[in-house]
Amino acid sequence: MQINRRKIVNATLSTALVGLGDLAGAASEKSVKRMPSIFVAHGSPMNAIQDNDFTRALQRWGQELGRPKAILVVSAHWLTPNETRVAVQAQPQTIHDFGGFPQALFDMQYPAAGSPEFAKLALKALVAQAAKPSTDWGLDHGAWSVLHHMFPKADVPVFQVSIDYAKGGAHHLAVGRALAALRDRGVLVLGSGNVTHNLRAIDFDAAAGLAASRPWAQTFDAAVKAALLANDTAALTNYLALDPGAKMAVPSPDHYWPLLYAVGAASASEKARFVYEGFQAGTLSMRCVQWG
Ligand code: ZN
Repeated sequence: MQINRRKIVNATLSTALVGLGDLAGAASEKSVKRMPSIFVAHGSPMNAIQDNDFTRALQRWGQELGRPKAILVVSAHWLTPNETRVAVQAQPQTIHDFGGFPQALFDMQYPAAGSPEFAKLALKALVAQAAKPSTDWGLDHGAWSVLHHMFPKADVPVFQVSIDYAKGGAHHLAVGRALAALRDRGVLVLGSGNVTHNLRAIDFDAAAGLAASRPWAQTFDAAVKAALLANDTAALTNYLALDPGAKMAVPSPDHYWPLLYAVGAASASEKARFVYEGFQAGTLSMRCVQWG
């Protein structure tokens, strides 16, 4: 009885080690550059076809980042309650998941290949979350509206990981942590959302700039900035207690959760660097962050 139990424990351990070995072994490939973890604001889909301060910053950022082996995107626009999905197609379609915008936006295509190879590694890394492969999602505008500026040639494979929208902050941070090892394989981990996102309170008359037209947007964004600098993951996951403006700034967490994936994929020794700060429509924080 004793021996059998030990056998079972050993078998479980070896299975776990084989899984980790796939990721750790790959990390020892010295030629592969470890890629950063980043959080990219996306705001209105119109940014995809506009030339402004924010989109020019995205263009410079893409050049600075170099060329990843693949890009793993966690977008605010792929929400799958009670499960985590990983897109495994070789050729993801460009999804135009919005309405009421100019035809030029619907005509846009981002023809990057998918990455079934890295998607498989992501699935392995997310065994604890029981992540499942998906072929019914392509690239939504949370992904392509920013990648269009950052990697305009669409020559880097891109695949998305969905957000389990039934879960809270700690879960999203944990998924980000589980995905961190892919960075050593040359995968850029990219969360796409907005630190503040209240579409009912948008101020179309406000000029773009560093100051928000609404105090709650300004104070919540500043509180998030401080928590990022302090690497206070507990405060970031429990965002409603972060600032009195939280409920207005984040009435629903879809655009906030992608930040936690990027935070989770960063290591504790990597300091947050703010690649872009500012607001669009007076209320949308366009804060962009990089670790590593
Ligand atoms: Zn969005």
